[in-house]
Amino acid sequence: MNFNPFTDEHELLAQSVREFLNREVMPHAARWEKEEHCPREIFQRMGELGFFGVTYPEEVGGSGMDFWAAVTVARELSYANVGGLALSLFAHAYLPPPLLSAIGTPEQKENYLLPALRGEKIGSLAISEPGAGSDVGGIRTTAEDKGDHYVINGSKCWITNGTMADFLVLATRTGEGHNLTLFCFDTKTEGFSSSKIKDKLGMHSSDTAELFFDNCKVPKSAVIGHPGMGFYYIMNNFQEERLIGAVSGVFAAEYAYRKAVEYSRQREAFGRQIGKFQVIRHKLASMATRLEACRSLGYRAVYEFIETGPAAVGTISMAKAFIGEEIQVIIYDAIQILGGVGYTEEYGVARTYRDMRLFTIGGGTTEIMYEIISRLVVDQAQYSKQMMTSRDQAAVS
Ligand SMILES: Cc1cc2nc3c(=O)[nH]c(=O)nc-3n(C[C@H](O)[C@H](O)[C@H](O)COP(=O)(O)OP(=O)(O)OC[C@H]3O[C@@H](n4cnc5c(N)ncnc54)[C@H](O)[C@@H]3O)c2cc1C
Repeated sequence: MNFNPFTDEHELLAQSVREFLNREVMPHAARWEKEEHCPREIFQRMGELGFFGVTYPEEVGGSGMDFWAAVTVARELSYANVGGLALSLFAHAYLPPPLLSAIGTPEQKENYLLPALRGEKIGSLAISEPGAGSDVGGIRTTAEDKGDHYVINGSKCWITNGTMADFLVLATRTGEGHNLTLFCFDTKTEGFSSSKIKDKLGMHSSDTAELFFDNCKVPKSAVIGHPGMGFYYIMNNFQEERLIGAVSGVFAAEYAYRKAVEYSRQREAFGRQIGKFQVIRHKLASMATRLEACRSLGYRAVYEFIETGPAAVGTISMAKAFIGEEIQVIIYDAIQILGGVGYTEEYGVARTYRDMRLFTIGGGTTEIMYEIISRLVVDQAQYSKQMMTSRDQAAVS
């Protein structure tokens, strides 16, 4: 049985991503990490080369490939060990665009989605707030209906690409409970400001920001989908984000594992290669086993997502939780095998270690994934009802 999902077409795409990374990113990546800087030109170039649009329909400027194409781009970014840039690029390509592509108005597609896929405008998904991360239903930023427009007040926290963004897919409260409304928000709107969050543990070259909304007046045409349905749109959209995050983690762990194998063959101690010590061999064997378990679950989730869309929530949540935790062990062990040099920037794995720590937190914590999985196991009926696709939701409202 062939377990390799990548076709020749995917491999051609991989080759052009690799060439681009080697030519335009790798010579500067370490400096951008130090400077905590993500250059705008990289978005423009990725867009020009068509890397953002691989999975989107041709009508919106994409190339209409399957989801494995997104996995291919993620694989190459992870193998290049540029976690911060990868986070920014994927937060741009796979957080706001799926919503705009699925339920955006023609005007929103023309003015934001198409330019985003071309790399001309940068997008952010703005959900989390200082007081509400896991608890999406607890967000407090309000959008008040003023008849012919809305007025938005509040703040957001931890928003990737937040200081660079030209537009946001913004979650606001428009009523009690789960009554949230999404907006396609132009960051040129009066009353909007942002400030960069510095000194993160990892993902240094990714822009992370706090956003502030002070009486921001937005037209009704900025609403995405139906008013009040935002919570359900967000829950569905999370699936794509979590899946791409989970599989990126597998390839990042593979990068660290390969470095450890390479080093175990070179490094000698007590007159032998360290890879000849049984304890090191077993550690590598255990890392390889964990890696294969992660890859199997990650790929299975991709297959299911391609077949069923957001209804693959159970497997995607399992993949996000399992891979997020397991790769911590793999990367930790890789550093152990590298010894002192593992603790420096020389072998790259130190960067992988700090970047990948985010993967049990960002896009939904491991604990929240287990909440979702346990609901699925405990109350199947309730789960199926909640996880209707956004189009289904729109259709019944
Ligand atoms: C670098 C970075 C980039 C990010 N990018 C974005 C972005 O682009 N857009 C965006 O909207 N957000 C973004 N986030 C926010 C991210 O999604 C949240 O940090 C995450 O969802 C967790 O929320 P929190 O930090 O508020 O933690 P909390 O929700 O306060 O959780 C704290 C702890 O309590 C646990 N916990 C909470 N509720 C429960 C429960 N019911 N049961 C058990 N345990 C629970 C959590 O699992 C966690 O361990 C980013 C975060 C970071 C660090």
